Formats: sequence, C-alpha cells, structure tokens
Amino acid sequence: MFGVLLIVTLVVSTGAALGYLGRLTLVFDRHPGKPLAILEEVAGPPDGPNCSIDARYFDEDPDGLRPDVLQAWLSLRAKASEQGVKLCLNDGKRSRGQQQKEFDEAVERFGSEELAKQYVLPPDKSMHVLGLAVDIQPIESAKWVEKNGSTLGWCRRYENEQWHFEYDANYSTGGCPPMLPRAPGT
Ligand SMILES: [Zn+2]
Repeated sequence: MFGVLLIVTLVVSTGAALGYLGRLTLVFDRHPGKPLAILEEVAGPPDGPNCSIDARYFDEDPDGLRPDVLQAWLSLRAKASEQGVKLCLNDGKRSRGQQQKEFDEAVERFGSEELAKQYVLPPDKSMHVLGLAVDIQPIESAKWVEKNGSTLGWCRRYENEQWHFEYDANYSTGGCPPMLPRAPGT
C-alpha cells in the first residue's frame, strides 16, 4: 500500500509539474485506488531498433507493460530463443495519449470515427493501453507464439491480427478462448 501511495504521490507531483494535474485527477476519480488507471498514462517506446531478422519491423524495449505481463513476455521470449526462434516486439505498451493520437490520425485519414474504428481502436478499447498486449513480428515468429504461447499465458485473440497477442494467467491453465473475428488496430 505504501508503494502505491508513493507512486501516486510521485505521479501527481510530476503531473502537477507538467500541468497535467486536472487530467490525472479525473483518472483517479474514475478508478479510485487502481494502479491500472495510472498505467494507462504510461507511454511505451514509439519505436525501437530494427528487428534483427526482419528490418521491416521494430524490436522495442518492453517498457511500460504491466509487471506480470513483462515477466510473462520475458519468459515467452526465452522459451522461443531456446528453440531458435527470435521474437521481435514490434509494438507493446501505448499510453492513452499515444493510442488517441493514432485514432485521431485514422479519423483524419478515413474521414469519420465510424470508419476509423475499423482500423484503429480508441484508447478505452485497446489492450495495449492497459499494458496487456504485444504485437509480435515477423509473422513466422508470431506463428510460433500461436502454437507455443498459451502454456505461458499468451493467446492470439483476433482472426484479422496474426501478430497481436494478449496475456492472461488463466490462459496457461484453461487454454486460449475462441478467437474473435476482428479487432482492428489493436
Ligand atoms: Zn496489437
């Protein structure tokens, strides 16, 4: 509890210093006492070094993932590595702001929110904002995760996104839930 209070204090002071206090207070009001609400404000790296096996993709640092998700990601990558498979983290954590920016750009590009939602999720719908999702590339590596990831809690969730995986400790015992047809831009 002290740790959480300390973090809250730090975030609030930092937020005040940056002039963001109003926004942070709003977040606390909506989710009283939940550290996840703070995590939503944490940005991930915008990109990273190129993926060493396919330069079309990035291999970001896993910064900002929820702590248990970060551990699970490191375990997954180690297991893949043991089997000679390299997993590149093309995209992991995003803040609400980062996701909102992507959404706003899509609205601009496609002309309406309705159309934009087919390609990019708004911040309140994205598991990347909650620090629970990773986009793994190249596709060959993603296929390995689809086959081997569930025992470590990683499941592919959407038929239209072969690269997108979400972590839930329950998946490691109960297996993956049925895949959903599409969740654009998650
Ligand atoms: Zn994704």
